[in-house]
Amino acid sequence: MSKVLIIGGGAAGMMAGVFAARNHHEVHILEKNEKLGKKVFITGKGRCNVTNACDTEELFPAMMSNPKFLYSSFYSFTPQDVMEFFEEAGVPLKVERGNRVFPQSDHSSDIIRALERELKKAGAKIHLHTSVKEIVKESETDSVTGVILTDGTFMEGDAVIVATGGFSYQSTGSTGDGYRFARELGLKVTDIAPSLVPLKTKEDYIPKLQGLSLKNTGLTIKNGKKVLYEDFGEMMFTHFGVTGPMILSASAHIGTKLEKAPNGELSAYLDLKPALTKEQLDARILREFEAGPNKQFKNVIGVLFPSSLTPVMLELGGIPAEKKIHDISREERQHFIDLIKAFPFTITGMGEFKEAIITRGGVSVKEINPGTMESKKISGLYFAGEVLDLDAVTGGYNLQIAWSTAYLAAQAIQ
Ligand SMILES: Cc1cc2nc3c(=O)[nH]c(=O)nc-3n(C[C@H](O)[C@H](O)[C@H](O)COP(=O)(O)OP(=O)(O)OC[C@H]3O[C@@H](n4cnc5c(N)ncnc54)[C@H](O)[C@@H]3O)c2cc1C
Repeated sequence: MSKVLIIGGGAAGMMAGVFAARNHHEVHILEKNEKLGKKVFITGKGRCNVTNACDTEELFPAMMSNPKFLYSSFYSFTPQDVMEFFEEAGVPLKVERGNRVFPQSDHSSDIIRALERELKKAGAKIHLHTSVKEIVKESETDSVTGVILTDGTFMEGDAVIVATGGFSYQSTGSTGDGYRFARELGLKVTDIAPSLVPLKTKEDYIPKLQGLSLKNTGLTIKNGKKVLYEDFGEMMFTHFGVTGPMILSASAHIGTKLEKAPNGELSAYLDLKPALTKEQLDARILREFEAGPNKQFKNVIGVLFPSSLTPVMLELGGIPAEKKIHDISREERQHFIDLIKAFPFTITGMGEFKEAIITRGGVSVKEINPGTMESKKISGLYFAGEVLDLDAVTGGYNLQIAWSTAYLAAQAIQ
């Protein structure tokens, strides 16, 4: 039996605690907040997209970094295992669009409460308001001996699991402490950046659309003529740019490319009618035109878009709003169709850490044994969750990373 100190009572820390305690170790979760799982509480807009009910091999393409490193973790604790774990812990689950798994209650608090119950049942001790300042190792043997808390107390331990999370939404407690611990112990930490974030845009007409949400929209992002990313889904306009599930996923793919792009800008296009080809769209518009040849353009196109989009489409469309339908030329119509199929805007930046769902980068996986989550250099030192250089697209995959790496670390401790 070992004395296991877990730094951080978030998703990874709680899950590691349950399994380490079930294995009869003496487990102490050290959490600086007044309660466990503050970030888990806000996941999935308060509903917690707890995992993705896909086959295990389908997890890997959803990883944005180091998928191979996760092989042992994912196969040791699969999405099906996660679902069974929570169902057995008294949280009935449901599967929604895109295999996203949520508690049937739609309450993330049920996930946290279940983990708390399992921790207590297995005998883990939870220390709230307990912030770790430093990890201590014995220099001769390079093995951990414990941690020092911010009040100066030394806590002895045979194993330490660092589950301090990333650097995003710092109000939830993830302030990047784990990166500092790793550096102080001589481990490499890769550059960190916000990911799964809203995107900032250049044009004046974007803020005018603030609050408008589009469900079935195509997105293409280009660097010059080169297509960098294409997707289809839901997005929203904000006072500074664009957001929504499709945009957040795009941010994960274009982050590094945006940094390197000329002027730090990428061009983007929305297909506002992705279900129709240009020809079908032309036929549709002609039908509207034929029904009211004496009407003004602005009064006819309203049927094609949500009302808040119409003024911007008129601004960009190149056809005077008052122009009579029968005076509109074929070229003007074609130009307008081009606009509907490729509504343009320029991406100038990514959102900030405080609004990022996830942190890209972290403790280098080259430092870590993928079969145990233990540091290759320092024995007894384990890492789990977002503190590692691991991140994925949205859909429950980031929590799956936390659950699986935490499980593996807990099982590896002797
Ligand atoms: C708004 C939002 C929505 C999200 N929705 C989803 C979703 O629906 N599905 C999904 O899969 N992922 C989602 N994520 C991502 C997911 O929440 C994280 O990937 C996951 O919580 C990471 O787990 P973790 O345990 O590594 O870190 P965290 O859950 O961040 O936990 C880290 C814990 O460590 C504590 N801590 C840090 N430093 C110290 C210290 N020095 N001493 C003591 N304690 C410390 C912190 O207080 C915190 O409680 C979302 C993220 C955000 C921000």
